[in-house]
Amino acid sequence: MQNVHTHAWAQALHFNLATVHEADLSRGHPLDLTVQYDAFMADMAPFDRVIVFGLKGLLTGYWVPDAYIADFVARAPGKLVGFASCDPTGPSYMDELTHSIEDLGLRGLKLGPIYAGFDPRDPRCAPVYDYCESRGLPIITHTGTTYNRAAPLGVSRPWLWDEVAIQHPELRIVLAHLGHPFYDECLAVIRKHPHVYSDLSALFYRPWQFYNMLIAAQEYGVTRKLLFGTDYPFAGTQESIDGFRSINGIIGSSGLPRVTNETIDGILSRDSLALLGVSR
Ligand SMILES: [Zn+2]
Repeated sequence: MQNVHTHAWAQALHFNLATVHEADLSRGHPLDLTVQYDAFMADMAPFDRVIVFGLKGLLTGYWVPDAYIADFVARAPGKLVGFASCDPTGPSYMDELTHSIEDLGLRGLKLGPIYAGFDPRDPRCAPVYDYCESRGLPIITHTGTTYNRAAPLGVSRPWLWDEVAIQHPELRIVLAHLGHPFYDECLAVIRKHPHVYSDLSALFYRPWQFYNMLIAAQEYGVTRKLLFGTDYPFAGTQESIDGFRSINGIIGSSGLPRVTNETIDGILSRDSLALLGVSR
């Protein structure tokens, strides 16, 4: 089993105070999102391979240096795959990215348009996409909402990635979180483009929405484009798997359509890293 969406960071080093406060408000109590290596690895025990990244967004105050991720994944190189992060609104982002890939050995890229405040179609992104496409580096991007009030929802819409995929047909892209709550847009984009996928991370705790997402994915015939992920530390592995496997519990004996075992087992057993071109 593989997990395409986890984070590593140290809250005190990598988040600004306003962003820490936003996280506290979202849960209603103070939160320490710092990822400890041992706890992380214990949570990841069910997975053979795990993609790990930080996040960069000057606008909202997330800044995890790529060297931190490279050091983190170097502790379990057979299992962990580190991705760089990039904020194309900042200075020298291409120099940082090429250094992270070519010198630090990171294998893909995490983008957070809503955290950095850029439109995925922004011309500043073009060299990033060209670089990743030419080198076979997948991009996983946040799509959909977040709790941070400084983060502009407009640039989180999944449909904005349609134009990127049209212009970069070989680029592997993962639209994270099924674009919640804009999952219909997300499904429309992944259906069109052979190399655009989505992940199921951090969705199980809204079971009615999650159920409807999965039924819509079945109706559009795109469940083969859905990858499993957890969004650690925001959600743990066992609760994510349990929430996914028991998703039909919400419909009881109502007669509503079921998320099929084929859908569930297919997603949990998917060789997502191969689809994204991340070789062993
Ligand atoms: Zn995430």
